[in-house]
Amino acid sequence: MKALKEYSGKQIYDLDDQDVLDYLLFKDSNKSGRTVVHFKACPFIGTASLENCSDTRCSLRHTANSMRIGIVLKLRKAFEEVGRRGPYEPSTTLGDPTKSVLIQEYITYKQLEQGLSGVKKREAPTMSREKMNKLMRNMKLHVRGSRGIIKLRLAERRAMYAFCFTAIKRLAGAGHVLSANTIRMPNDKGLVFNCTWDKTLRMDSHCFGFFCMLGTEEWCAHCIIDEWVTLAKSFGITFNAGLLFPRLEYNGTVKLGKRWRANDITDSLVRDLKRYFLYEEETPHSFRHGGTVDSLRKGASLETTMYLAYMKSKSTAQHYAKGLRHLFPTNFHWKEAGIDIETSDVKELAKQMHSWKAFSNENIPL
Ligand SMILES: [Zn+2]
Ligand SMILES: [Zn+2]
Repeated sequence: MKALKEYSGKQIYDLDDQDVLDYLLFKDSNKSGRTVVHFKACPFIGTASLENCSDTRCSLRHTANSMRIGIVLKLRKAFEEVGRRGPYEPSTTLGDPTKSVLIQEYITYKQLEQGLSGVKKREAPTMSREKMNKLMRNMKLHVRGSRGIIKLRLAERRAMYAFCFTAIKRLAGAGHVLSANTIRMPNDKGLVFNCTWDKTLRMDSHCFGFFCMLGTEEWCAHCIIDEWVTLAKSFGITFNAGLLFPRLEYNGTVKLGKRWRANDITDSLVRDLKRYFLYEEETPHSFRHGGTVDSLRKGASLETTMYLAYMKSKSTAQHYAKGLRHLFPTNFHWKEAGIDIETSDVKELAKQMHSWKAFSNENIPL
């Protein structure tokens, strides 16, 4: 925000969306970015080098995603802090300028431009079991130490994260789970969900569940969801009908007709991880990713895992779970390949295997 104010020569209350756009354009072209973006007609498209380019439109830039997360969201936070929040109104310049149509269009334009130039979307980093444990531990203490609506909202987010990691869902999926369709296993052994949402609506409803892991794992999604429901009930929220993870108003009542969307959750996830110094560019996709790795690691079959993750093809599963021996023929000799599969760190291994591209030579990605 300091840089933006200096660049535009304005104070925070006087900034409009054009100022933000000018600043983003400036940041994108001042060589502070580190991603090679070729002009779409450059013959070296798909490579990570500018060495041979004759087109002056090829340059180092910020990726669309890092600009959104690294710059736009930071500015948004600063605007929020001084009370400039909500939709941006160009005629009155009230609201949050980073939410204006102009800025959204610019980000979309960048995505399109970079898609045409072959810039690969960097994958969401995996949410590892270790990091998930730390997140759950920190949030547990935080919930305990909080009061009122803050406590309620924290408990809900914690339950959503636990749900997504365990059920291997993209975080946005949690926003659509119906509480009335949730079944408790006999003797409280676990929960079964029967939910349909966005893209899965055209398929049959999708059932899945998880067992209580109390005493087996460091935390249990079933117990954490119960904690959320119990707390929410004490705030007067009912679960006979409606959503298991409803969107809440700032006064703690349920916002009807509005569900959690990926962007809302991305922002809160980033904030939660940052608060506990755990943030490494995770996105809601990281849960699906991490959950898959964890499930396969625990020996669940690829079929079970795919079913949980609702993946349509084996190649999608391989994509998410790359680095795991389950995807290799059983007679593949890991030792001969120089890899100790038993002791290697899963995350490291996955990263390493990512570089095993079949058809690349030198640094030229396929
Ligand atoms: Zn080029
Ligand atoms: Zn449990």
